Amino acid sequence: MLISDIKRTCENCDGNGFKAGFEECGSIQINLKKSCPFCSGRGYNLTELGENLWKLFMPMFNDMVKDEINKKTNVLNQNIECNSKKFVSSRK
Ligand SMILES: [Zn+2]
Repeated sequence: MLISDIKRTCENCDGNGFKAGFEECGSIQINLKKSCPFCSGRGYNLTELGENLWKLFMPMFNDMVKDEINKKTNVLNQNIECNSKKFVSSRK
């Protein structure tokens, strides 16, 4: 299986993700507004096979992302707890 089986370079923007004729300069916000409407600025579109794979793997990606966020949130909470204890004890 080739990557071209999954996604195709957007013909509207030639894979740039931006409308033809638009010069990519300035802030990101301006670029986002000018992003290609056909590929939402990605520069490619998923093929039917790509869509199917995406749907297949999306739940797995979601779980992975949730796990990562949970880990980071836990670390963050521990840090806050730790700092607040330090703060309280230093005031005594
Ligand atoms: Zn495009």
